Amino acid sequence: MPRAVRPREPGAGEDDFLSVVRATVDGILVVDERGRVRFANPAAASLLGRDERDLEELPFGVPVTGAGGFAQLDVARPDGTVVAVEMHVAPLRWRGGDAQIITLRDVSQRISAERRLARSEARFALSAKGANDGLWDWDRERGRVHTSARFQEMLGRSRRTRELTAEHLFALVHPDDRDGLRKSVDRHLNGRSSRFRHEFRLRRSDGSWVWVMARGIAVLERGAVLRFAGSLTDITDRKQAEDDLRRAALQDPLTGLANRSLLLDHLHTAIERGRRTGTTFAVLFVDLDRFKLVNDSLGHSVGDAVLVEVGRRLEACVRSTDTVARLGGDEFAVLVDEPQDFTAVLSTVERLREAVAAPISAAAHVVHITASVGVARSEDVPPDPETALRYADIAMYRAKRAGGDASEVFTPTMHAQASSRLRLQNDLRLGIGRGEVVPHYQPIVDLGSGRIVGFEALARWHPPHGPVLEADSFIDVAEEVGLIVPLGREVLASATRQLSRWRDAGFDVQVLINISQRQLDAADLAHQIGDLLADLDLDGTALGIEITERTATVQSPAAAEQIARLRDYGLRIVIDDFGTGYSSLSAIHALPLTTLKIDKAFVRGLESDGSAELITTIVAMARTLGLEVVAEGIETPSERDRLRRLGCDRGQGFLFGRPVDAAAATRLLEAQSTCARSRSIARDRP
Ligand code: C2E
Ligand code: CA
Ligand code: CA
Repeated sequence: MPRAVRPREPGAGEDDFLSVVRATVDGILVVDERGRVRFANPAAASLLGRDERDLEELPFGVPVTGAGGFAQLDVARPDGTVVAVEMHVAPLRWRGGDAQIITLRDVSQRISAERRLARSEARFALSAKGANDGLWDWDRERGRVHTSARFQEMLGRSRRTRELTAEHLFALVHPDDRDGLRKSVDRHLNGRSSRFRHEFRLRRSDGSWVWVMARGIAVLERGAVLRFAGSLTDITDRKQAEDDLRRAALQDPLTGLANRSLLLDHLHTAIERGRRTGTTFAVLFVDLDRFKLVNDSLGHSVGDAVLVEVGRRLEACVRSTDTVARLGGDEFAVLVDEPQDFTAVLSTVERLREAVAAPISAAAHVVHITASVGVARSEDVPPDPETALRYADIAMYRAKRAGGDASEVFTPTMHAQASSRLRLQNDLRLGIGRGEVVPHYQPIVDLGSGRIVGFEALARWHPPHGPVLEADSFIDVAEEVGLIVPLGREVLASATRQLSRWRDAGFDVQVLINISQRQLDAADLAHQIGDLLADLDLDGTALGIEITERTATVQSPAAAEQIARLRDYGLRIVIDDFGTGYSSLSAIHALPLTTLKIDKAFVRGLESDGSAELITTIVAMARTLGLEVVAEGIETPSERDRLRRLGCDRGQGFLFGRPVDAAAATRLLEAQSTCARSRSIARDRP
């Protein structure tokens, strides 16, 4: 603020003095008692937008009177522009009279900068208020932070503006976030980040945490940061949404269990920790047995309810540090982390299986389900989560192949076997495409006359190199990977065509074709057979399908319908391997059966154990149901004779003939008819 000028008398050196006044950048005016301008320097003239001479005698209303008067005003120039002027008025003796000296300074620039600042500050405060943000202003010199009412409200305190120490504020930050926040603040204050922005948690007065985002900027004054100010936004909702998203990405939506990614993540952690500290783990691969049947027969909502319940039970069997995940479909996995020893893992496996096996009630149904479990130990797997899980899967397959409702522990030999199976799968896939899989035919004879009444078609694979493979060595693999469907289609088409040729040649034979569960589920089986019969103009009664007892007992409604349609075409419906499943007869009774095929295990047991009694029972039962009985695997004449006496109609086995290709089978039929002819010639002879 300019100091008051002491009145003074003009004297010697006046000219020098005047030139100083004229050269001054501030405007200087002298106004007499009557308010007329008596003197104006050029700066004053240009400030007021007039000529120096025009100013003289101009009446000049001075708003401030008295000594040391100071004012700031907007002055309108004749050209219409407005200039902000700071004016200082002081009394002066002028040429013998009382006057006033007025100093004028153009402050337009400073004023507009100030107004801009005020406007932007107001705008900031307003937008912060609109966004419901809190404000903070950290006085770095005093170490105190001034916080707005909204800031306090976010902390659950009364809506009062408050000042608190920076230390106090930092103490409210979540311990896990404190270091990060300090680093972020330092980075900004050291000029390494142009904008400060950080997300962290603050403790509310009720002890809960609020997620906030602080934004701010350091204000440089005299080359140092004396002030650091900004806003605070409550981002709890956003964090919650982010959390939900993250959880959704790692959670199985149906069961709420971990999903595959989360399991792999935990596995990764377990592997890493094992590497550092030698801890162990085990991965369990849990697959429900015949779950598809639940879905198909009771509907998907019951299926889903069963899966949810299974998930819940699995979780109840493990410790909270273990991870239970649903991998998809009816597959679950468990990571048993840091088990006491391997016995503990095995008892967990047993607990899991028992828990799953207990009846599950879902939507007025009681479902009985079992699980197959594969176990892989950390010692036996490479340090890779995916592989660890795959090894547990390989072991699970072992358990499943043995009939399910079992568990298996992975061994390195299994891996070798699994990879050779994989090779086999690939080769078989190619082989089917190249027509390398064809049926061979094993005779079925009438036990009374010994005549061939039909053949069972059995798949054989002729790989380009190496010997012909029997079904036993590749059917399982084909089943596992679904190749059984294209394979079965080939065998079916080829065997039906062969049957048609034999019938055309006058041989009264039947052909029985093995059909697996998957083929029945593939829905177009009856369709395909219907088309074949029509194309070949073949009588359906010459054809038959064999389904295993196990397949028959777990029939889905769709499969049952296909079987019924095939029976309508006149096909024989044969229950294969009868006696090996524990099927209640009522379950298969619902099917339109024509034939029971007694498993070769009973034939084998004829001499030693009590198979004879069982066979007697089976035959008696078959009679009441009007079914024909075939015994398979007959290797010796004595077996044949026993079976005939026990009432079996037909038989099959190495004794009568091994499976042979179509040409050889045709020769058998031809030989039989020549032989029959010669016999009848002999009989006819007088
Ligand atoms: P299966 O239906 O029980 O077939 C009988 C199996 O016993 C055949 O083995 C046959 O070669 C063998 N066998 C026949 N007579 C005797 C005997 O006197 N003693 C002994 N020890 N074995 C005998 P193969 O051909 O290896 O077939 C194995 C299984 O593969 C079959 O069991 C059948 O379930 C399945 N299979 C074969 N061909 C097909 C097919 O085209 N489709 C489907 N889905 N399954 C097939
Ligand atoms: Ca069979
Ligand atoms: Ca069989």
